[in-house]
Amino acid sequence: MFKKILVANRGEIALRIQRACRELGIKAVMVYSEADRDAKYVKLAEEAVCIGPAASGLSYLNMPAIISAAEVTDAEAIHPGYGFLSENADFAERVEKSGFQFIGPTPESIRIMGDKVSAKQAMIRAGVPCVPGSEGELPDDAVAMKRIAKAIGYPVIIKAAGGGGGRGMRVVHTEAALVNAVQMTKAEAGAAFNNPAVYMEKILQNPRHIEIQVLADKHKNAVYLGERDCSMQRRHQKVLEESPAPGINRKLIERIGERCVAACKKIGYRGAGTFEFLYEDGEFYFIEMNTRVQVEHPVTEMVTGVDIVKTQIMVAAGEKLPFTQRDIDVSGHAIECRINAEDPYKFIPSPGRITMWHAPGGPGVRVDSHIYTNYFVPPNYDSMIGKIIVHGDTREQAMARMRTALAETVVEGISTNIALHRELMVDAKFMDGGTNIHYLEHWLDQHKR
Ligand code: ADP
Repeated sequence: MFKKILVANRGEIALRIQRACRELGIKAVMVYSEADRDAKYVKLAEEAVCIGPAASGLSYLNMPAIISAAEVTDAEAIHPGYGFLSENADFAERVEKSGFQFIGPTPESIRIMGDKVSAKQAMIRAGVPCVPGSEGELPDDAVAMKRIAKAIGYPVIIKAAGGGGGRGMRVVHTEAALVNAVQMTKAEAGAAFNNPAVYMEKILQNPRHIEIQVLADKHKNAVYLGERDCSMQRRHQKVLEESPAPGINRKLIERIGERCVAACKKIGYRGAGTFEFLYEDGEFYFIEMNTRVQVEHPVTEMVTGVDIVKTQIMVAAGEKLPFTQRDIDVSGHAIECRINAEDPYKFIPSPGRITMWHAPGGPGVRVDSHIYTNYFVPPNYDSMIGKIIVHGDTREQAMARMRTALAETVVEGISTNIALHRELMVDAKFMDGGTNIHYLEHWLDQHKR
């Protein structure tokens, strides 16, 4: 096992990885930008290295600074967390070439999955069902493009091969709008992702976003850890997540889970990963794979009892998965609310000093957050300041616990979206379960203030 790991991230996930290292008896080296000097996990760290100024391009995305921090501290491995460099194949490659273990899949796996066109092709080969669409990248030729769209059927969605974070997508309703829309998406994709390739998919009208968590080791063992329902989204960004997905037949989940495991084995996947699907009318359609730990991993940890971050570290060190599929049991129900420093209805970021923080507690309540009273939320990064996760024997109990937890939570000095979560937890449709990916946007339209 490693003696020392460098954590190349910030915020709650940096703290989450630090905690996993502590449990494993591993020293965690924390890196920080000048804006994160006062982060508690930095103060609590055995070792911490400043890697640059606040701007992430100069710190958390600064590969040479991160690799030299690992060199000067004699770390053996680098955990990239999520976001920042976590899905950057060049970074993974540079980490390994510099003699460190990258805690994640191989650079090749990241590269294949990071290009959504090659990811879909790999999934089709591995027998994972995909959204009907173009076979690979869209051609430039207008006639060919129109032929493909006609075969799929309007409306279609044009998506950037290199897209992510809900960006680089455009819906097209008519043939007249097609060529222009493709050109615009290509230009944007070239500028934003350095890759102008786009592909086309059928639009699923009212799908749910259901994803399968997997863990694989370097010895060809892989398991899936049930599913998560992440349909509550605003601008393609997840707001709250739960596991299991309400109302979906367990046999269907088993079947798709087994396909994901088979795909992992086929592509030689290692580490933690997530297969994202759209689910409609009893069918799953693969949309993309995330080759890293995800924000919403705790709901899976709560229902399976598996520590995903610890397991990531263990398999990166070459250990075998300490469980088989038969040992994985999904029990009870978990819900996660992402707490963002933002106006709850207008979504304008609200960085600044937290004058008071009181975290919820009690049975089945988990808080993953790096904030504290007097903490200054820097304006430079994502607005998520933590997550409240609850577990209950049933979905009803989990919702009741979340309501209690949200009622107890106090954040003063900045605005947060806690008020929005409080409303969603008593919303009749959410309480019924099974709302689709458009539900929250519609809800927000109706509850405009
Ligand atoms: P990103 O990598 O930017 O997150 P995804 O491919 O995962 O992009 O898609 C993000 C979200 O966009 C999905 O969760 C879903 O809400 C919507 N979406 C993507 N593809 C389709 C599609 N073919 N039909 C309908 N909605 C889609």
